[in-house]
Amino acid sequence: MFLEMEAALEEEIREECGVFGIFAEDPGLEVAYLTFLGLLGLQHRGQESAGIAVTDGTRVACHKNLGLVRSAFRPEDLKGLTGFAAVGHVRYSTTGTTSLANAQPLVARFSRGTIALAHNGNLVNADALLVDLEMAGSVFQSTSDTEVILNLLAHFSREPFPEALRRAAERLVGSYSLVMMTRDTLYGLRDPHGNRPLCLGRLEGGYVLASESSALSSIGAKLIRDVAPGELITVDREGLHSEILLPPARRAICAMEFIYFARPDSVIEGRSVHEVRKELGRELARVHPVEADLVVPVPDSGYSMAVGFAAEAGLPLDIGLIANRYVGRTFIQPQQELRKQGVTIKLSPIEAVLRGKRVVIIDDSIVRGTTTSILIRLLRDAGAREVHMCVSSPPYTNPCYYGIDVPAKRELIASSHTVEEIRRFINADTLHYLPMESLPRAIGLPLDHLCLGCFNGEYPTEIPRENVGKNRLEKGV
Ligand code: SF4
Repeated sequence: MFLEMEAALEEEIREECGVFGIFAEDPGLEVAYLTFLGLLGLQHRGQESAGIAVTDGTRVACHKNLGLVRSAFRPEDLKGLTGFAAVGHVRYSTTGTTSLANAQPLVARFSRGTIALAHNGNLVNADALLVDLEMAGSVFQSTSDTEVILNLLAHFSREPFPEALRRAAERLVGSYSLVMMTRDTLYGLRDPHGNRPLCLGRLEGGYVLASESSALSSIGAKLIRDVAPGELITVDREGLHSEILLPPARRAICAMEFIYFARPDSVIEGRSVHEVRKELGRELARVHPVEADLVVPVPDSGYSMAVGFAAEAGLPLDIGLIANRYVGRTFIQPQQELRKQGVTIKLSPIEAVLRGKRVVIIDDSIVRGTTTSILIRLLRDAGAREVHMCVSSPPYTNPCYYGIDVPAKRELIASSHTVEEIRRFINADTLHYLPMESLPRAIGLPLDHLCLGCFNGEYPTEIPRENVGKNRLEKGV
């Protein structure tokens, strides 16, 4: 059972990065400390490394480390980062080995000055760009596609910065929300599809850019709006400027940000993520009414959806599963023996709630099916009379090429099994997925404004043939 649970711990889909930037008009603002707090508000987007770069107008200083934000920075590290603007980054690496060389922000010196760059997303043409740049003499120190962006910027560095950025960005295909900083200016750029979120906030005495508004709340900043697809935000001593740097393309914000990745207290595209998830749950209950006694969420991402489902179905909602928050990420411990020692049960059922009950269990997705089958066994062992599995997204059938770490297509159970086959594999009494047509109503955006690639295999950009069906680890990136 322990080994099964360990495998299950590894199978979750993961967001890969969060970005943050701040420009202080008020010299009293401690930008490094505020960035540290902002990164804490983005910790759910990446747990393997964290970094902050700060400029004082003459020099860009940077500190990066492996681990969670709180352990990556000692108080003295933050004290050494003084200035009026900062960029920060949290990262979850997919390279197999967690490397400090891949931690961000990346800082580079060009003929026109220094740039610090933090990136959320993934380029689908990074391999081709890397070959071109190496042929032109570029040298790479890491395996991250962010370094490709940096080298492209260097390639065009004879141009003034916004123009160099435009020329570089015109060659990028894929997903990118970038926060950048030169010695005197903060920049934020979102790709023309708007695939990953990026928002703009106001703090007394400063401006803030962040992947999610949860980071703004962490520092007492107010959300102004989302950065528009293709929009470049510039903040300098003259104030805030905006321009559309890249021509608009088909809108394609990641639907999984609403369903699973973003923090429920964030607001994306003007929509409260918590309210969207409640609506997903309501839709599920409307489309698939279930005869049951009780609704139980899978912690933590199932909570908001379960609230909506229970309200719509007129069923009681109860906490039937408890997450052990101190299990940790067992798979980052390299040796098998250490990994075994690190494994404990991540979820525990509450027998007093479940015994004799017909239970509706609400989760955001089924990936390989292993976690769900273990979960259902836990519920049955705790005395649940029936278990009805309700999933608040369509079947997950395809990998993501835009910066989300998911197993390869052949490992995704819904890519090769019918709903009935999956139901039998996970041993549920019934299994229900949210239909694709319900997503626009629940999210509040039209289908053609969303990326739904992992559900329908249709992506907003072309995917190089050699990468189709593979995840990033298999590509060796
Ligand atoms: S493929 Fe899926 S996870 Fe990736 S960006 Fe599109 S909706 Fe999001």
